Amino acid sequence: MLPYGRQTIEDDDIAAVTAALKADFLTTGPTVEAFERAFAGTVGAPHAAACSNGTAALHLAMLALDVKPGEAVIVPSITFLATANCARYVGADVIFADVDPESGLMTPATLAEAMGRVGDRRLRAVLPVHLRGDACDLPALARLAGEAGAVLVEDAPHAVGTTMNFGDMTEQIGDVRHSAMATFSFHPVKTIATGEGGMVTTGDPRLAERLRLLRSHGMVRPPGREPWWYEMPEPGFNYRLPDILCALGLSQLAKLPRFAARRRALAAAYGEALAPLAPAVRLAARPAWSDPVLHLMVALVDFEGLGRTRLEVVEALKAKGVGTQVHYIPVHRQPYYRNLYGPLDLPGAEAWYARCLSLPLYPGMADDDVGRVAEALRDVLGL
Ligand SMILES: *Cc1c(COP(=O)(O)O)cnc(C)c1O
Repeated sequence: MLPYGRQTIEDDDIAAVTAALKADFLTTGPTVEAFERAFAGTVGAPHAAACSNGTAALHLAMLALDVKPGEAVIVPSITFLATANCARYVGADVIFADVDPESGLMTPATLAEAMGRVGDRRLRAVLPVHLRGDACDLPALARLAGEAGAVLVEDAPHAVGTTMNFGDMTEQIGDVRHSAMATFSFHPVKTIATGEGGMVTTGDPRLAERLRLLRSHGMVRPPGREPWWYEMPEPGFNYRLPDILCALGLSQLAKLPRFAARRRALAAAYGEALAPLAPAVRLAARPAWSDPVLHLMVALVDFEGLGRTRLEVVEALKAKGVGTQVHYIPVHRQPYYRNLYGPLDLPGAEAWYARCLSLPLYPGMADDDVGRVAEALRDVLGL
């Protein structure tokens, strides 16, 4: 069975964890800072703060910005629940932006439309998601957010290793040239894995300091005081990433070039293998500026035109050993958000959801697996 995603853990990863287990610190030790420095260096960010998972990273970003109850945060409806929930954790209101139906991404046009629904709330933050690994139009989103007095926070777990070309400059996801912060997750299906794990990158040293403070109870140790002394100017959380997992993260990060090259090669192979199935099956659209390391290989399938339900196709593919997943159910449709804000018409998100199907993509796939998946899809769809 080919799952839609899977971690790649090798003997040296296990050795790195074993070494951390034998060292003096299981939780806050020297490997935390080493992982942060290495991650910041890899994505080209001035600062990085590790935390317990990608959801905690988003929550910490909202806390670090001091987003307050009743303020507004714009998130795309096609994302994982956590992107929206982080706004609710701090009492802010979620304004769901629509997405481009071909790429699944928030665009300047869908952001502008969502801004028109903010009402008299204060818009504090805009959270674009680099869905699948393709980069959003960050300069344009940043300009719009800036004009509205809001801060851009990228939810970037899908896009570790993705580069972008705006003008003649090559930029990297996570380098935070256009945003205040970018958040990451090291969940097993993501590009590098620590099991649970997260990171926030930022160019602002004060935000970096606040993120570190808030991830560890809000405790500060003022210099010149007694060795046991600590103070808490404001309450924080226990959102630390333990040394053990940072050791795994460091080991995984060293493999990013290999993982990224493998994902790029598999994505190119999918491009060729699925081309004959068009127009019934097409890959999600890649924006011109984006050179992605894809986290998800999303095919857009015209289930309706083919007279097949997605469930039939998913089950038939499973019977052929091909695992799939759906990314994502529009978050604005979730019972909690529907009860809170009422029904919302986001046609791009609905069109994306109606057709999306994530196919297997992970570095451990064999060369002929892509062909197998394409063949299975062709069979099952009768193409
Ligand atoms: C995985 C993911 C998260 C949450 O990360 P966890 O580490 O699972 O908490 C948030 N946003 C997006 C877009 C994700 O893919």
